[in-house]
Amino acid sequence: MMEPSARKWLLHLLADRVLFDEPMARHTSLRIGGPADALAFPSTVDQLIRLVCWTREKGLPLTVLGDGTNVLVTDKGIRGVTVGLQAIATPVRLTPDNRGGVLVSAHAGVQTRRICATALKKGLEGMNFALGIPGTLGGAIRMNAGTSTGQMADVLAALTVLTPSGQARRYPRWMLEAGYRELVLPLKGPFVILEAEIRLRPASRRKLYDEARRLMRKRVASQPTWKPSAGCFFKNPAPDKPAGMLIDQAGLKGAAVGDARVSRRHANFIFNAGKATAGQVLELAEQIRRAVRRSFGIILEPEVKIIGET
Ligand SMILES: Cc1cc2nc3c(=O)[nH]c(=O)nc-3n(C[C@H](O)[C@H](O)[C@H](O)COP(=O)(O)OP(=O)(O)OC[C@H]3O[C@@H](n4cnc5c(N)ncnc54)[C@H](O)[C@@H]3O)c2cc1C
Repeated sequence: MMEPSARKWLLHLLADRVLFDEPMARHTSLRIGGPADALAFPSTVDQLIRLVCWTREKGLPLTVLGDGTNVLVTDKGIRGVTVGLQAIATPVRLTPDNRGGVLVSAHAGVQTRRICATALKKGLEGMNFALGIPGTLGGAIRMNAGTSTGQMADVLAALTVLTPSGQARRYPRWMLEAGYRELVLPLKGPFVILEAEIRLRPASRRKLYDEARRLMRKRVASQPTWKPSAGCFFKNPAPDKPAGMLIDQAGLKGAAVGDARVSRRHANFIFNAGKATAGQVLELAEQIRRAVRRSFGIILEPEVKIIGET
């Protein structure tokens, strides 16, 4: 519960763009998650900066969320302020660079699929790998989202972030370290990705559309995209040992704890079959980890970010 004076401050800043005690199940693709004390959607960067500075001043935790497609929010929910950038979304800008490519600049609250669609429409190569990845550009960059055909770090040219003290700072790509499903910045403390510049190359539009159709067909055939999930739950321990294959070989396809289930189509997808709780998902994940460890001696690490009070 947030103190009345804090609620008042937030209402004054954001009016109806702040929700109190908001069930996060309404804001995550798993449809799971307890209440956020305050869920804020600032509509300008200035409001966001004021919010970041105020939470710091008050010692309140600040959690940044995109579309919630790669998170598991705990049943107790999120303390402090949770902030989404979707209301700040501005137009996607295209400018030619000096290397024969095109720089696509967009705000972090824009959906990744919009960047993919713009690239396809304009005949720009580089973003097709991300077709079908749900969520925002900020989330995709933070997670260095990708597939076997590419990852965000391959196309990222620069990033503008808001530091914990509320200052906007631009980082060219060479200052960022790309890891497996993570991007590391030379910065201490929590940061908010504000904007990204993506470098793409002109290419045959027909070739791009053909590739897009092929990749989307493959995704739909191999993933339970229509079920509430957070995508792949575990990281692949090695390229030749995908977590889905290990979970399948450990005999866990279809395993369940309550309404939390392992998909039969793709064993690295845990989905919510109705009224699953975060506790059930975590218990199922633990059973999977134990079984894979027993069968192969491999310890699976979650790819999904677990957020909230435990
Ligand atoms: C059906 C399905 C398929 C998927 N397929 C793929 C896939 O092929 N490849 C893949 O990599 N992922 C995949 N995912 C996972 C997920 O969609 C991606 O990781 C996505 O990029 C996350 O974006 P988001 O906006 O939803 O981020 P969220 O889930 O909201 O957040 C993810 C993390 O990023 C942080 N974050 C979000 N925005 C910001 C910001 N502006 N500044 C700082 N930190 C931020 C959050 O705090 C959190 O730690 C899939 C998910 C689903 C449901």
